Amino acid sequence: MNFTIPDHNCNLCERLCAFRKGNHDKFPAYYNAPVPPFGSLDAEILIVGLAPGLHGANQTGRPFTNDYAGDILYPALKENNLAQGNYQKRQDDGFELINVRITNAVRCVPPENKPTTGEEKNCRTFLSREIAAMPNLKVILSLGTISHKNVLQALSLKQSYAKFTHGAIHDLPHNIKLIDSYHTSRYNINTGILTYEMFDNIIKKIKTLI
Ligand code: URA
Repeated sequence: MNFTIPDHNCNLCERLCAFRKGNHDKFPAYYNAPVPPFGSLDAEILIVGLAPGLHGANQTGRPFTNDYAGDILYPALKENNLAQGNYQKRQDDGFELINVRITNAVRCVPPENKPTTGEEKNCRTFLSREIAAMPNLKVILSLGTISHKNVLQALSLKQSYAKFTHGAIHDLPHNIKLIDSYHTSRYNINTGILTYEMFDNIIKKIKTLI
């Protein structure tokens, strides 16, 4: 087992385990397990999402893969030369990240996409270890407020250390920058809270930081 990744049968969260078992019965062909991060620990950029979507990452076993949020995230990475290949919404599509790793604050799919604070806490150990295991890490991109909050907590920083603001760049210890973006969720895109152009600008900003 890689210490940055929960065990396939991780049972730290009672509610998420019960949900996983129910999903295993309903959707036996799905991955239905903690979704491991995508990309190398040697990357300079770490993107932290919220949690796998039921019919997206929880189905495919790769973060943001077959989730609506991935339809924004992956093309933006590719357009900015941070990914290569054809993103085809499958774990075995051969799509590759360049200098980027993608992970989630919570590794198991939560009911209604909403983890509890207890579940975030249980899973934070993996995020802390993951950040510590990235020797070249320069930029963390938090997608949404829950990601932002968990990144600060994973680094034992108070919430007052940095307020979530779309586009803001915060200095973290060890010369790491934290940049915030609204999540690339269907809701944010449909309501215009986030546009593809706004997100593309965030990725371009990141490229100036590495
Ligand atoms: N899929 C993920 O893996 N993470 C998110 O935050 C959203 C969808």
